[in-house]
Amino acid sequence: MEWKENSKCAVMFSFDLDSDTTWKNGNDGYPNGEKYIKSISIGQYGPKRAVERILNLLKKYNIKATFFVPGKVAEDNPELIKKIDEEGHEIGHHGYTHERFFDKTVEEQIEIIEKTQKIYKKIINKEAKGFRTPSGDWAIETPKLLYKRGFLYSSSMRGDDRPYNTIIENKKTNFIEIPTHWELDDYVAMAYNYFPEEPSGLDRISGYEQVLDNFTREFDGYYKYGLCFVPMMHPQVIGTPGHIQILEKLIKHILEKDDVWIATGSEIANWYIENGKEEK
Ligand SMILES: [Zn+2]
Repeated sequence: MEWKENSKCAVMFSFDLDSDTTWKNGNDGYPNGEKYIKSISIGQYGPKRAVERILNLLKKYNIKATFFVPGKVAEDNPELIKKIDEEGHEIGHHGYTHERFFDKTVEEQIEIIEKTQKIYKKIINKEAKGFRTPSGDWAIETPKLLYKRGFLYSSSMRGDDRPYNTIIENKKTNFIEIPTHWELDDYVAMAYNYFPEEPSGLDRISGYEQVLDNFTREFDGYYKYGLCFVPMMHPQVIGTPGHIQILEKLIKHILEKDDVWIATGSEIANWYIENGKEEK
């Protein structure tokens, strides 16, 4: 498809700044789960050490990215959220404690959405325009609840490799979906912990060259077919001293092409509303 200024493909770098929320939610499933503090500390490495490293890398290559941040993580790290915002990146909604929307009532979903918007507003004086569903699926009503509250886009689904207009109650809306894919996710490629097990069965620490090769080949495919490449990274995973070099090499590979449009979620959604043509 066509992209801004005749670019051949679009890239949306996205970082899910989950911190310890995912580990806390996982630990909840075990008796005395709150005592598993080592796994929680894996997540805390994100805001504590990794985000700074990622911000420096993005600055070096003049890239603006989108950070999806649960409300609780924003509340716990207000200075970091301010810094991300001040450096020109976008903050997107990612629940309050990274909760599953799938089994929440409408009222509970509204509470999570609105409570978290207030937190962003208080810290950076703006509300999120984008949403990435935390931990699995959203509920049937979720897109409507978001669209009614002024959200512009979501980056939650998997069913395309281009943006599209979300159908809500049988109507095509300007609530834009910018899909991503598991093969563009650093978590499934490289997250690791003994207990709770991640990955389940503990069958790997992936070879870094192979992970870079996977990401690079995926990008080459998106470029070839003119699509929207959305790497889904987690600071606690991609931000270690070794892993971040995978990201830097991927960035360099992408920047070798001079006709790639690197943009935030809002920029891509707005462009799609004004210029996008739905293709079969
Ligand atoms: Zn997340």
